[in-house]
Amino acid sequence: MVCTIVKEGHECFFMTKKGCQFNGGSCHPIVEQCEGCQRIGEFPAGKFCLVYPDPAAKWRLGKCQMATHLKEGTQKGNGKINPLKASKRKFQ
Ligand code: SF4
Repeated sequence: MVCTIVKEGHECFFMTKKGCQFNGGSCHPIVEQCEGCQRIGEFPAGKFCLVYPDPAAKWRLGKCQMATHLKEGTQKGNGKINPLKASKRKFQ
């Protein structure tokens, strides 16, 4: 059903005719680690994740798996250099 509580107009699994069935009766706002993620939605009630109702829980045990703003950092590598490629570079 479409949410009428915090993510107004957004289709949500937890919304029913009796109201929001998520723990606490509504979604929880994003947390600091979410800033920059493209899955953040801005609503009159504040900023909420469009995927998860409780963003803090997604960060409690590490990085959020759905975060869009962390990909760049992980794609750039982990600081290790491939020794084969490095040795080839010397001879070019
Ligand atoms: S997908 Fe993850 S990082 Fe992005 S807003 Fe939701 S909880 Fe935060």
